Amino acid sequence: MRWSYSCPHCSGILNRENSIMLIGTHDDDRIIIGFHPAPGNYQISLPPGYEIEAGSSWDFSCPLCQKSLVSDISPTLCCMDMVAKDVRHRVYFSRIAGEHATFVISAEDIEHHGEHAGRHSLEILQFV
Ligand SMILES: [Zn+2]
Repeated sequence: MRWSYSCPHCSGILNRENSIMLIGTHDDDRIIIGFHPAPGNYQISLPPGYEIEAGSSWDFSCPLCQKSLVSDISPTLCCMDMVAKDVRHRVYFSRIAGEHATFVISAEDIEHHGEHAGRHSLEILQFV
């Protein structure tokens, strides 16, 4: 299965090799973070020696147009566009380090991933 992620602002492709590459900003830190493309896989890659504090809130942005990916529907979620099996989806994910909550939304349904998805399900249901 291949997942192709793109920026909702500039439509630039965010996949690089086997990761989704985003700019992560927290306080004075600004780093490139690689995410696993499979929804529900929370493996990330960080710059060498860098560690992320669990519970910290991150602002993710597009490395191509620099715009923030924070979603319109909730300030605690970021979003990207994604195509899998020729179907367009919008993917929402938590901005909190260590919080595993991802929503994959297509015209037909909403998939929930991660053990903390329940924390955001009301926002998702309310606005989708
Ligand atoms: Zn962009």
